[in-house]
Amino acid sequence: MPISFRPALIAALFSSVTCLGLSATVGLTQAVAAPASVAGSTRADQQFVKTKAAFLQALWQQDPDMAMAAGKYQDANKLVLPDQASRAAYVSFVDHWLAQLDKVNDEQLSAKEQTDLALIRNYLKGSHWYLTQFREFEWNPTQYNIAGSFDAILNTDFAPKAKRVRVAIQRLQNVPAYYLAAKASIKNPTPEHTRLAIKQSAGAISVLAELEKAAAAEKLDSKDKAALDEGLKNARAAVGDYVQFLEALEKTLDPATARSFRIGKELYEGKFAADIQSSFSAEQAYQRAIKAKEEAHRNMEKLADQLWDKTMGGQAKPADGVKKIAMVIDKLSENHVAAKDLYPEIRRQLPQLEKWIREHDLVSLDLKKPLVVRETPEYQRGVTVASIEAPGIFRPNDKTYYNVTPFDGQPAEQVESTLREYNHWVLQVLNIHEAIPGHYTQLQHANQSPSVIKTLFGNGAMVEGWAVYSERMMLESGYGGNTPEMWLMYYKWNLRAVCNTILDYQVHVLGMTEAEAKDFLVNQAFQTKAESDGKWLRVQYTSVQLTSYFSGYSEILELREQLKKQQGDKFKLKQFHEQFLSYGSAPVGMIKKLMLKDAVK
Ligand code: ZN
Ligand code: ZN
Repeated sequence: MPISFRPALIAALFSSVTCLGLSATVGLTQAVAAPASVAGSTRADQQFVKTKAAFLQALWQQDPDMAMAAGKYQDANKLVLPDQASRAAYVSFVDHWLAQLDKVNDEQLSAKEQTDLALIRNYLKGSHWYLTQFREFEWNPTQYNIAGSFDAILNTDFAPKAKRVRVAIQRLQNVPAYYLAAKASIKNPTPEHTRLAIKQSAGAISVLAELEKAAAAEKLDSKDKAALDEGLKNARAAVGDYVQFLEALEKTLDPATARSFRIGKELYEGKFAADIQSSFSAEQAYQRAIKAKEEAHRNMEKLADQLWDKTMGGQAKPADGVKKIAMVIDKLSENHVAAKDLYPEIRRQLPQLEKWIREHDLVSLDLKKPLVVRETPEYQRGVTVASIEAPGIFRPNDKTYYNVTPFDGQPAEQVESTLREYNHWVLQVLNIHEAIPGHYTQLQHANQSPSVIKTLFGNGAMVEGWAVYSERMMLESGYGGNTPEMWLMYYKWNLRAVCNTILDYQVHVLGMTEAEAKDFLVNQAFQTKAESDGKWLRVQYTSVQLTSYFSGYSEILELREQLKKQQGDKFKLKQFHEQFLSYGSAPVGMIKKLMLKDAVK
């Protein structure tokens, strides 16, 4: 990831934290200033639309990587140095625009513009907090990696290939300075992020090889050719030097005194407020998750009782409920695809999901937009099994990728463990979550939303919350046959979202140890060893993001039930979904306000 000031938001193309939800940097048409004078828009609205356009123009200039993540490549040849000067400039930019926005009178704006204004403010305040309080640039060396941006330039169809190669060659020239600035920025890194950064730097080397290959296929003039050769040589040396620097640094880090990857209560609440923008505090979300876990266990025990004879035959039932559930899940998990059939099976299921949604009239789908199932690019591996990578906001017709991390080189035992986790039933739920009607469908709707701001500053909890909500909604519609097996596995999966929230809070705030975390995941959330190992890595590398699933989901479900009660017979599920998705990836709390206001009319 290039100079990420706010990784969560720039996540789209460059994310290393996907099912990243916020791999949702979204798409929209070229309308920079959201369609202005729609009927009913006020004079204040029209004025604010101009302010927004000016803000976005300034943002693209201030942050070419953010522009790229949004699909605007005009400054893609510039690699911004991640140094103190550019961070200070960013803080000034933020202060300037916060002051500009203070001049806007919220009260006179329509609801739609009020929410845009709130989102820009949230973004700016969050950026300020990230740069001045969270200061990840000092302690997280994975922030410095050129792979994502070069990959985007080489593989996004924003210009003819020859032009893109030249853009990459220009960008290449700043790579040595980029890594020098990185080295100068790092102070007291965590051992965990340092080791991950060393590993992920391999991705930078492979993207340079990809550039070399792409350039070989083009006719370059002698000047470009010289710049390429010199640039590649220097860039490779710079990456090598950065890796050596990190390796040497890592040896000096004493686990007892080095900065902990646990961010602690204060930063945790701050990050939760900046990223999740929930109506709850982090601690409240944590308490809710604990209640949800208990409820899931009660339902699962009933299902396990129903399935006992069928799965366990004459075996004696243990008195302990959790043990009983675990035994039935363990038995059912034997039903899974072979490793070689994972990709074909995912591809096979996607049209079935489309058909079901059409036949049951659940939500509208745009079948013209391509979704490509592929292996996760190397530089993004190491955090999640599956993710959706969507085109930037100004390039809505680009391909969306469904990334699945391949099993290359993994021991057979670990492969088997992962396959059992993504067994016959859970694989279906995964496809719902990542693709249809989860992330892929939500992003398609967001792309049609008439607010660049809502799409650009998409809210992670809304994005993940929708995907998690869509799982439940599909099962409620009968997808998967309404069998106790499907429901039991659904709860197991849903418990992941719930337990992600509990785990993240306990690890980062309450000091849960590795052994406690793995025991919790295996024995309370019924996860396999492979899954709990992966989750432990993820909770070390990220914070707060793991809570987005449950906090968004629980707010969406609450909203739906509230509207159902209010509207009685008039409530239409498809209409609820269409309206909910029509606001773009705005925080659920804001959508709730708009929908409830609308429902009163
Ligand atoms: Zn997701
Ligand atoms: Zn097996």
